[in-house]
Amino acid sequence: MRKNKVLIIGAGGVGAVVAFKCASVPEVFGEIMLASRTKSKCDKIADSIGGNRIQTAQVDADNVPELIELINGFKPDIVINVALPYQDLTIMDACLATKTHYLDTANYEPKDVAKFEYKWQWAYHDRFKEAGIVAVLGCGFDPGVTSVFTAYANKHYFDEIHYLDIVDCNAGDHGKAFATNFNPEINIREITQKGRYWKNGQWVETEPLEIHKPIVYPNIGPRESYLLYHEELESLVKNFPSIKQARFWMTFGEKYINVLNVLQEVGMTSIKPIVYEGKEIVPLQFLKAVLPEPSTLGENYKGETSIGCQIRGLKDGKERTYYIWNNCSHAKVYKECGAQAVSYTTGVPAMIGAMMVLTEKWQGKGVFNVEEFDPDPFMEKLTIYGLPWNEEIDKPLPIEQS
Ligand code: NDP
Repeated sequence: MRKNKVLIIGAGGVGAVVAFKCASVPEVFGEIMLASRTKSKCDKIADSIGGNRIQTAQVDADNVPELIELINGFKPDIVINVALPYQDLTIMDACLATKTHYLDTANYEPKDVAKFEYKWQWAYHDRFKEAGIVAVLGCGFDPGVTSVFTAYANKHYFDEIHYLDIVDCNAGDHGKAFATNFNPEINIREITQKGRYWKNGQWVETEPLEIHKPIVYPNIGPRESYLLYHEELESLVKNFPSIKQARFWMTFGEKYINVLNVLQEVGMTSIKPIVYEGKEIVPLQFLKAVLPEPSTLGENYKGETSIGCQIRGLKDGKERTYYIWNNCSHAKVYKECGAQAVSYTTGVPAMIGAMMVLTEKWQGKGVFNVEEFDPDPFMEKLTIYGLPWNEEIDKPLPIEQS
């Protein structure tokens, strides 16, 4: 019998976890290739996993012909894209040309404007449908598990979801003066843009980090949480039209915000190119080059993350509340695979999403966000592969919703 093949693109913090996790399930992922811009990073990950489980390759994922050549050579059944959001469309183009399934964890962004919108990727729907292949969008934790949590709540506990708050807390301490937990460029673009939330059929815009308040997280306690715009809000309000209000909150420490403010004020977070010693550079890309890589933060990282969905709505004509979340310990993750919890909580769902496609639990032709598939088989695998979840039904929610 032919073995399933998976091609992972991107050898960063998340790519390392995806490779590790795929390698641990040989019955689904028979052959694995890890390709990235810098091959030595792929080789290092492959060596740490061992057992000749991972083949490696160099690829520039901005270059469609190069991607097509790589895919035609290896012939994967699915491509897991954990490079950067800038590469989403080129990798989708290569998947279309080779009729290969596609999965990612972050929506496409043009390099010159920080915009988090699905429109560019949704525009591929008909072409993927005609090619008879599936593109699974946003299959990390948020977007990803939070979207599946919402679909699960909708399937089992609600007739109508009215209020949704996605709450994302990292109560960890990596001991570094300043570092971001995933790609610094993408992370800082996300935080420094204007906030936005859904209210009664329209988007309400806020200044960056304007709205904040303490939210109590399970096993952690109260943490200052900031309202951000996050991409899954766009697909969730479209796929669950009964939602009246949808917000996304993320915690940041006081020091992190202070450093970020200084960097912003001096222009280091700008994505507008400047000329330095005769060469054009983007300040934010230069900043990324001097910050620690997310994949190196695992050692001595203490504390845990807590990410979940707080939901209110109606079931059988009665008001109902529901909170579903996962807590993930940085130290436990480091012990398992040398990573930190933010990479882990993204990489494990990406592996499970690919598993759903390869085992035909998730079937479809076209471009889909994860909440459009059956949440049950995915939820079952979360617990098995390291991200157990907890739920509370009809108890007061930590966040006020009105
Ligand atoms: P990293 O910066 O650690 O890794 C990104 C990797 O992609 C690097 O190895 C980089 O190569 C590679 N890469 C960049 N450009 C290219 C290119 N043109 N061709 C080939 N490879 C390229 O980021 P993370 O691992 O932290 O994040 C990966 C993705 O996961 C991002 O898109 C991020 O937005 C997403 N994410 C999603 C989350 C979710 O919950 N949904 C949460 C966290 C992250 P090189 O090493 O040579 O620079």
